[in-house]
Amino acid sequence: MKQRKACRTCGLKLPLQEFWRDRTRRDGFAPVCRTCARLYYRAWYASHRDQVIERVLARRRAYQNAIRLRQALSPGPTPRGA
Ligand SMILES: [Zn+2]
Repeated sequence: MKQRKACRTCGLKLPLQEFWRDRTRRDGFAPVCRTCARLYYRAWYASHRDQVIERVLARRRAYQNAIRLRQALSPGPTPRGA
């Protein structure tokens, strides 16, 4: 059962293992082949670099805030001599 699928970008008919899995798709595979997806992502990243970096930094800040909040809320060691 060697299934092939046409890439939406380059139009080549390639075996399914040349496509990334995508559970949101009806056939379970991305519409473009791995090679095209990589090229597409690279181009997308080049034009969205600042947004990507900003999102990563925001996530890191949120993570550190969560840790700080947890430390502030945790009972921790009780001060002695009170
Ligand atoms: Zn392709």
